[in-house]
Amino acid sequence: MSQVYWTDLVRRLSPYVPGEQRAGKNIVKLNTNENPYPPAPGVLQALASITGDELRRYPDPESQQLRRALADYHQLDLAQVFVGNGSDEILALAFMAFFTGDKPLQFPTLSYSFYPVYCDLLNIEQNSHALQHDFSIDLDAFTDNGGGIVFPNPNAPTSMAVSYEQIESLLARAPNTVVLVDEAYADFGARSVTSLVNKYPNLLVSQTFSKGRSMAGMRLGVAMGSPDLIDALTRVKNSFNSYPIDAAAQKAGIASLQDDAYYRGTIEKICATREQTIAALLERQFKILPSAANFIFVSPPKENAEQLFEWLNQHEILVRYWNKGDLKPWLRITIGTDSEMQQLIRCIDEADFL
Ligand code: PMP
Repeated sequence: MSQVYWTDLVRRLSPYVPGEQRAGKNIVKLNTNENPYPPAPGVLQALASITGDELRRYPDPESQQLRRALADYHQLDLAQVFVGNGSDEILALAFMAFFTGDKPLQFPTLSYSFYPVYCDLLNIEQNSHALQHDFSIDLDAFTDNGGGIVFPNPNAPTSMAVSYEQIESLLARAPNTVVLVDEAYADFGARSVTSLVNKYPNLLVSQTFSKGRSMAGMRLGVAMGSPDLIDALTRVKNSFNSYPIDAAAQKAGIASLQDDAYYRGTIEKICATREQTIAALLERQFKILPSAANFIFVSPPKENAEQLFEWLNQHEILVRYWNKGDLKPWLRITIGTDSEMQQLIRCIDEADFL
């Protein structure tokens, strides 16, 4: 009999399913919100310069140099910065540190689908708030319940952002509740609330090097918050894994922060490609939510998203489709290069069922 050694917890889990990592020369990969451009040249140089000694030894368990570079970059103190193995790990540690109390965790109903997975793993009660009719997050629905609040800004998969002012007003009226703002995609249009970290001790901001900084393969995330919150994250991290950031990732992260001009260029390019893609799809009568991210959330004119997903898939263009509930008429499409997006539009034009 299989599964005989599984605990009830393992039996109950429905793990997160990431987008397919299919490889191949002709694949147009628009399904996991990766950046179509490589990281800055300095990052590759930093990786090439790694020495045998650096690999032979354990890395700095507290990633001091990388955290110092991030603190300088964001004009914060070292004690306000935490790094993790991708922002997914930061979310997991933050859920453990702040949301395992006896009150429910609040998040939007349509949001990053990893949140309910962490809740199931950690036995956290969930209180999800419906989106408004225009798909925006209704921050007014969130209360100071002491259990915790988490939402992505911009939201995933809708791509829509809430304003800095709306978040500040939530922080001010929920002083007893940790508010985790997941800014994985903030580089592409949403205004970051990092500058509010000094003002609101209940704010934790998480960001990633995976999207704007083209380093999804390296696994590097950062959290910023009051020293008290960072201390709690560090305690949980050191009760779980002392060395989550390997030596190469620490070096590459520091190099990445040294070439901001490069990233401003690639991010600008992606935003311009996004606007061209939106215009092309609007011409073809698609419904598209306003995007502040490196992806768009679109619905074809007859809402036959699954058929379009399969058609694109057959033509080696991968996008994301969820065959469940309200998501059924929608596709999430990552913004690639101009040429990849032109291929997408050509493939859409060849479909006779739209
Ligand atoms: N938050 C959101 C909303 C995401 O979509 C993702 C990427 N799947 C992450 C966090 C995690 O990204 P990473 O672990 O690569 O930093």
